[in-house]
Formats: sequence, structure tokens, C-alpha cells
Amino acid sequence: MASRRRIMVGAVPVGGGAPVAVQSMTCTRTGDADATLRQVRALVAAGCEVVRVSLPTAEEAPAFARVVREAPALAGSESAEGEGRRVPIIADIHFDWRLALAAVEAGAAGVRINPGTMAEKHVREIVEAAADARVPAAPGEPDAPVAIRIGVNAGSLPRDLRERAQADAPGALVDAALRWAEQFEEWGFTAYKLSVKSSSVRDTIAAYRLLAGKTDAPLHVGVTEAGTVWSGSIKSAVGIGALLADGVGDTIRVSLTGDPVEEVRVAWQILAALGLRRRGPEVISCPTCGRTEVDIVNLAEEVERRLGSDPALAGRAISVAVMGCRVNGPEEARHADYGIAAGAGEGVLFDHGERVATLPEGQLLDALLELVRGSAG
Ligand code: SF4
Repeated sequence: MASRRRIMVGAVPVGGGAPVAVQSMTCTRTGDADATLRQVRALVAAGCEVVRVSLPTAEEAPAFARVVREAPALAGSESAEGEGRRVPIIADIHFDWRLALAAVEAGAAGVRINPGTMAEKHVREIVEAAADARVPAAPGEPDAPVAIRIGVNAGSLPRDLRERAQADAPGALVDAALRWAEQFEEWGFTAYKLSVKSSSVRDTIAAYRLLAGKTDAPLHVGVTEAGTVWSGSIKSAVGIGALLADGVGDTIRVSLTGDPVEEVRVAWQILAALGLRRRGPEVISCPTCGRTEVDIVNLAEEVERRLGSDPALAGRAISVAVMGCRVNGPEEARHADYGIAAGAGEGVLFDHGERVATLPEGQLLDALLELVRGSAG
């Protein structure tokens, strides 16, 4: 598989060995800049590193520009003076190339286009505007051009690939993406990444595997229109997870019909499950069985909810075990950074393998939270 070259999406390096970046998209009306900024802040607080914002009409361009200007700092990017690098805002553009030009003008770090929906001369105008623009990059990196995502989909394939798509959808998508990549390179523009998303998990995996062997461009990976929070999370975990396990994917987006903050949480969970990146505590809990003697289901859920929503713990990669009995529990709890192994109406608290207390069931939650939070200071 070809190794990826690196591009900058504003302050975020993508490809070339950079950590897989988590992306999401706002679902507010972009013209309502206050609401959109509120959602961008919520996404960044949850760990989103690249935010896509749709720009559906020219009337919304001033609000889009304000979102770019007032976007919050990326988590953990603050300098000693308190200055942070702004989260990159990507404009999502369909059909109208003039909106892409407006987004570049507004200072977007990137634009996502499907070039198959535009005349070639207009795509070239976008590419030239992106190449000429400069957006602040990361410390030590020169300011970058506006990045472009070439996002092809089955609905806008060139005529000669449409028929092929009936029998070989992944192959047709990949060829369409590579044609545009070649065209961009002919125009001297290399700050692009590619996506070949599909709502079929199988086609998504097949297309990206094929694409990854044919280009060194960074790849944005996701399963499009995945579904509700429950079913979409599973489809995304299977599709994105299979690709990341193969080393394919430089930015990821979990697409869910729901609060986009959930997309970010699921994306981080996928990264953590593969051991690629971790943000905040990982809760390990047993499935419970006939030996369980305390209410482990509620205890584990409460531990996960309260630790996961604690901003002081967001940057810490720690594991917390919540185990249901004295048979297997102590061993698992001992291997985590912190843990509980429950018994009959009570439980043992572990701190890095050491037993620190035996407490009644009613005190276990608070004691565990205090132990974990105390270690954050
Ligand atoms: Fe059952 Fe104990 Fe294993 Fe939990 S840790 S599943 S209670 S044996």
C-alpha cells in the first residue's frame, strides 16, 4: 500500500504519519451563525478536530465567514499565552462553484466538493483560488493553501463509469476519484484528499482498499448516510474500523442521524478500540453473569457517563475497570489503572493494581470517581 503524503487542513496535519483526525459536520442552519458557533464549540469540546459546515446559499456566506473567524481553539492547542490554533472549518459545497470561491474568500481551511457535479472550468477556478489562498497552519509549518476534498459518489459518476458501476461500484468510484486527482495534479495542485464513500459498508471497504493501493493522497474515510445513532454507529464501526485496522484512513467521519457530538464520541471510540488514539478514560466492564452481586450495569454506565463528561479527564488516556464479582473481577481490575471488583453488597477499590479500600456498594461510585479525579490534579 502506498504511504500517504501529508497535507495541512488549516492547523491539522493530515496523512504522512499524522494521527488519524476526527471530523464531524454541523447540522444547524449556517445562516444562524450563533447556533452554528455553539455547535462548533460543542463538537470541539467533544474532541472534533476538523468541522465541516455546509454553505448552501450565497446569503449565508457572511455567517459562514463569521463561523470561520470565531471558531474555537483546537483542544490542547493553547500556548502559554492562552492563544490556540483555531479548529479548521471546511465548507461543504454542492453544485455551485461560486459558493466554493466564497468559502475560500471567507477563510475556510478547506472545501469539500464533488467535482463531478460541476463543469471542469469551474472546478479549475476553485483549484486556482485554493492554491492562491493561504490559511494559518500549525507552528513550524508554513501557511497552507486551502485544502480540497474530492468527494465522489455513485450519483455523479461520468457517463462511461455509470454502466460499470452497476457491476463494480467500488471500481467505478475509485476510477472517478483518480481521474480528478490526476486532473488536480496536472493543474499543479496537491493539497487534496480523496473520499469514495458509499452507504454500503462492503462497497465502502472495497473502494477504499482499492484506492489506497493506487494513490499516495490522504484519504477521508466514512460510511455515508450510515443511519441512526444506534445502527449508524455499528455500520461506521465496521466500515471505518476495518479500514483503519488495515492502515487506511487519515481523517474519519461517523455520519449519524442525530446530534453530531455523538459522531465525535463514536469516532473516538473506534480509534480507541483499535488502539490508535485515546481521548479520556476507557471503561472496561464485565458482561455480568449469575455471579454478579451488585448492580454493575448501572454502576458501569454511571462511571462511563461521569468520567466521559469530565473536561479535566478529556486528555488523559486511562483505563477504569468495573467488574462484577470476586472470581474474575480482581484480576481485571488490577490490570486497569483504576478499578472496582464487587462482592456481596460491597467492592474492592484498586489503584494501579493495589487494593486501596473495601467499601459498601453505595460508596463505590463516589470513591472511584474521587480516586480517578484526584489523580488528574
Ligand atoms: Fe461474571 Fe465475575 Fe466475569 Fe463479571 S467478572 S462476568 S460477574 S465472572
